[in-house]
Amino acid sequence: IRAAAALLADYARDADFTAALRIYGGDSFAYSVERALARGVDGRDEHGARIVIAARPSTLPRGLSSTSQAAGYTGAEWIPAYSGNYQTANRGLADVKAIVIHDTEGSYAGTVSWFKDPAASVSAHYVVRSSDGHIAQMVDEKNIAYHVKCFNTSSVGIEHEGYAAQPEQWFTEAMYSESAKLTAYLADKYSIAKEHSTTAIMGHGEAPDCSDHTDPGPGWNWPHYIDLVKTGGAASFLAEDISVDAPDSLVSGEVGTVTVTISNTGTAAWDLDATRIGTADPQDRDSAFFVEGDWIGPNRATAVDAQTPAGSPGTFTFQIQAPEVAATTVYDEAFSFVQEDVTWFGPTFHVLVQVKPDTAAEPTPENSGCSIGGSGSGGIACMLALGGTLRRRRRR
Ligand SMILES: [Zn+2]
Repeated sequence: IRAAAALLADYARDADFTAALRIYGGDSFAYSVERALARGVDGRDEHGARIVIAARPSTLPRGLSSTSQAAGYTGAEWIPAYSGNYQTANRGLADVKAIVIHDTEGSYAGTVSWFKDPAASVSAHYVVRSSDGHIAQMVDEKNIAYHVKCFNTSSVGIEHEGYAAQPEQWFTEAMYSESAKLTAYLADKYSIAKEHSTTAIMGHGEAPDCSDHTDPGPGWNWPHYIDLVKTGGAASFLAEDISVDAPDSLVSGEVGTVTVTISNTGTAAWDLDATRIGTADPQDRDSAFFVEGDWIGPNRATAVDAQTPAGSPGTFTFQIQAPEVAATTVYDEAFSFVQEDVTWFGPTFHVLVQVKPDTAAEPTPENSGCSIGGSGSGGIACMLALGGTLRRRRRR
């Protein structure tokens, strides 16, 4: 890590790390790194310990270059593969009969560079990025990409960034969703059935192929993917039946814990990094409860505590720190749920905390803990419970 940092520092000119990242790994690599830093990371290491990298919104232009798009999917960035890595052909609508799903066993940036490398002798028509579902088209669909040894002539290949052995980490909802839109487009265009079968949409491991590849492996969620293909990639994010446990009173500077439990009633799994609690009313405002080091950023409290399948309850735990106040003040902060790069969803809930100056000895309200259910009436009930000691209410 130190060597890489030293190398990047050497590449950087006038503290412009975008240029350094481009020199190091190309435009797509620079884009991936800057996007991850801008969005922040809330994940787990191999031992299950939580890792938070604070979001740092970038004002620099995105590290993307573009050239004119070949005939194909308009949602893709056109990054042509080296011409020797595929066979030029003139396939028409009747010639493409199947869609083959792969995973890269490597990074998006590495895969894109490999398909541009004359030494590769392999390619795929499309490559989908894990973090946000961004798609590169590298071979025109009328040409024959080299992605399934003996089944290339009649198929279109889609590579997905990630590793079959770590599906929860790599096969994100953003990637499923954007890939499914692409596959739906291909299925409609070439009259391919929207089903998981060896005559329509299949994994590389299932293809009538003479290689021994097994990707994308058992971790690829086929029922979910095919559902998304049928609905055009519209992932369903829904959350209901919320319970919020938060301290009702803190002294300035004091830190408390908020635990939110809510059922995943949509069709998509919640992702350890990308399914988050964000600030609401107004959306994305900076929160007065922000805790440096615990939050991903002032407008993102936390990601879900664990991967949460559809139909299961999920838990979000985060800390809040009471702001400095001169007189007892009630803070009422609104939050909601967001699948980064996909959608906001679920109810808006309120965390209502009476904050006292750290020198004053204010009377303590008789209730302890304010559990707010639903999205409105519970907040009013908590307000009434706190009313006796309420001096001033400030909305942030
Ligand atoms: Zn493959």
